[in-house]
Amino acid sequence: MTRSIAVVGTGRMGSALASALLAKGHRTTVWNRTKEKAEALALLGATIAPSALEAVSAAEIVIVNVSDYKATAAILRDDALASAIRGKLIVELTSGTPHGAREAAEWCVEHGAGYLDGAIMATPDFIGTDAGTILISGQSQAFRDNEAVFRALGGNVQHVGQDPGRANALDSALLALMWGELFGALQAIAVCQAEGIELGELGRQWTATAPVVEGLVADLIKRTNAGRFASDDETLSSISTHYGAFQHLLELMDARGIDRSVADGYDAIFQRAFAAGQLHGDFAALSQFFGQGRITAAATTKEAGRLVVQPPPDHPCEETECL
Ligand code: NAP
Repeated sequence: MTRSIAVVGTGRMGSALASALLAKGHRTTVWNRTKEKAEALALLGATIAPSALEAVSAAEIVIVNVSDYKATAAILRDDALASAIRGKLIVELTSGTPHGAREAAEWCVEHGAGYLDGAIMATPDFIGTDAGTILISGQSQAFRDNEAVFRALGGNVQHVGQDPGRANALDSALLALMWGELFGALQAIAVCQAEGIELGELGRQWTATAPVVEGLVADLIKRTNAGRFASDDETLSSISTHYGAFQHLLELMDARGIDRSVADGYDAIFQRAFAAGQLHGDFAALSQFFGQGRITAAATTKEAGRLVVQPPPDHPCEETECL
C-alpha cells in the first residue's frame, strides 16, 4: 500500500530517502530550507512544498532528515506546525543522542503525534538497496503498521526497541567502533609514512590482518558480556601482552615525532587497569575502566605532557607501583 509521506530536509541523505520512497510509488512531498536542493526530486515525481507546514499538512508520515535535532526543533516547534503534526507519525532520521530522541518523543506525544527515531547506518548510496541498514526505535506498533515504508528505505531496517533513544545509543556505539578503526588507520598511515613503507603495502597487509582484528573484537564483546575478565585457557591475549607491543608503537611514535594524542588515550586506559592491579587480566578486563570502573578519568592528571595515574584510595600500592 502506498502512503502519503513528507520528507523534511533534502540534503544528501534526505534526497536519497525521498528518491527511495518515490521509487516504491509512495506519494512524496518534500521540503528543504534551500528550495533549489529539492528541485531534482520533482523530476522523480515529488511534490515540492513551499513551506514545512504545507509539507507536513499533506502527509500521514513525516520523515525528518536535517543536520541535527536543533534544526528539527527550529522547523517543527512552531505553533502552526505543532498543531499540524496531530494524528501523524513523525519519523526522525536525523542523527542525535538517546536523550535527544526521548525528549523529542515526549514532545511529539504531547502534541498528539506518534514518534519513531531512526539511526541510518549507511551512506546515501545504500539507501533503497537490500544492504541499506536503518535502526529504528520507539512505538513498536507504529513501526509494524508502516514497515513497508521503512523497507523502501533499506532491506535491513530493524526495530531495535520500544525506548526511542535505543537506535541513537546503538548508532553511537557502532560509530565508536568505526572511529576506532579509522583513527587506528590514521596512526598506521603515519607510521608507514615515517618508516618509508608505501601505503599500498599497508592496504595489502591490512586485508590479511583484518579478520584477526574482527575475531578479537567479537571475543572482547563476548567475554565482556559474560564478565570473563580474568585470563583463562581461552584468553587470546592478556593486557600485559598488548601493552608490551603497545610500548613499541609509542617508542616508534616518539622517535619519529608522530602525534600521540590517540595513543595517549589508549595509554590512559592501560594505566588505569594497571593501577587497579589488572596487569595479567584478559584484554576484556579493560572494559571495566570506561567510566564505570574503579578509577575514573578524574583520577588521572597530566604532568609534563604525560598522563599520570593516581591509584584509588583503597588500592594498596603507591602510584604506578603495580606496573
Ligand atoms: P547535508 O547534505 O549537509 O544536509 C543537511 C540538511 O539539513 C539540509 O537539507 C539542510 O538544509 C538542513 N538543515 C540544516 N539546518 C537547518 C535548519 N536550521 N533549518 C532547516 N533545515 C536545516 O547532510 P546529510 O549528509 O544529508 O545528513 C543529514 C542527516 O543524516 C545528519 O543528521 C547526518 O548525521 C545523517 N546521516 C548522514 C549520512 C551520510 O552519509 N550523509 C549517514 C548517516 C546519517 P539546507 O539545504 O537549506 O542547508
